[in-house]
Amino acid sequence: MAIIIDGKAISQSIKDEVKAEVAELKEQGITPALAVIQVGSDPASTVYVGNKKKACEYTGIISKSFNPDENITESELLAIIKELNIDPTVNGILVQLPLPKHISESKVIAAISPEKDVDGFHVQSAGALMTGEKGFVPCTPAGIIELIKRTGIDIEGKECVVIGRSNIVGKPMAMLLLKENGTVTICHSRTKDLKSITKRADILVVAIGKPKFIDGSYIKEGAVVIDVGIHRGENKKLCGDVDFETAEPKAYAITPVPGGVGPMTIAMLMKNCLEAAKAANM
Ligand code: NAP
Repeated sequence: MAIIIDGKAISQSIKDEVKAEVAELKEQGITPALAVIQVGSDPASTVYVGNKKKACEYTGIISKSFNPDENITESELLAIIKELNIDPTVNGILVQLPLPKHISESKVIAAISPEKDVDGFHVQSAGALMTGEKGFVPCTPAGIIELIKRTGIDIEGKECVVIGRSNIVGKPMAMLLLKENGTVTICHSRTKDLKSITKRADILVVAIGKPKFIDGSYIKEGAVVIDVGIHRGENKKLCGDVDFETAEPKAYAITPVPGGVGPMTIAMLMKNCLEAAKAANM
């Protein structure tokens, strides 16, 4: 039986650690604050934003909401970000994606001050991760490193395979595994003979965006399997990019969906906000 990596419990520990540090900061007169911008009222975004605000409430971080109409122009949105960049009472700025089609996401992300880029999507943050400088790391891959480490799994020297090369998951994931001294391979849609590569993996991170794509036949006996995917099946049940039923018997440890990677993203966002507040008050 594989170890089922409990993302709910681990994320709870991280939120509790953040909460304790926020309380200490408050005693010194510092209150971390996150500005959350949601353009329009897409129902999925509303749920994500709501969960982020709840986590802020739990940890003691102030959340300041901005909910402009979906017809806001790009320059009006950029003006809001400009204001928040110079607002000393705001430590982190989060723009919920996706944005309406008439607004350039890359321009908006580029407008956020790197010191407040708690999502870690700014090119300066990406560059810092690449070169080993200080900077914010995207929350999902940062959370995966925590899941692996807090399960007592050593990354150093391990054969690590990441499926997916998106800017928010695959690429930063690969850089973080490399930073931990893993030997890293990145796979994508043009990779030839995917299975021959995944079967070498001691640690396999799957961020492919296709429900149950990776079954047990892709997995080496005794591997650690991290499933980043999240999909709602026809029966309304959530599932990941990994076929849990056939993968679990092969794995040494595996993340479930739900309750694996998902809860970690928000916990790491809280951690990034705390770090932003600490850095701003150093
Ligand atoms: P994405 O931008 O769609 O990237 C998917 C990646 O998978 C791409 O790099 C693509 O390759 C690769 N791919 C597609 N088909 C493939 C195939 N047959 N063989 C090998 N590689 C293949 O997705 P993402 O944003 O990284 O997200 C991945 C999954 O994680 C999604 O299910 C998403 O919902 C989930 N997610 C979850 C969280 C969370 O908090 N739990 C956070 C973010 C994302 P190309 O680059 O060649 O197209």
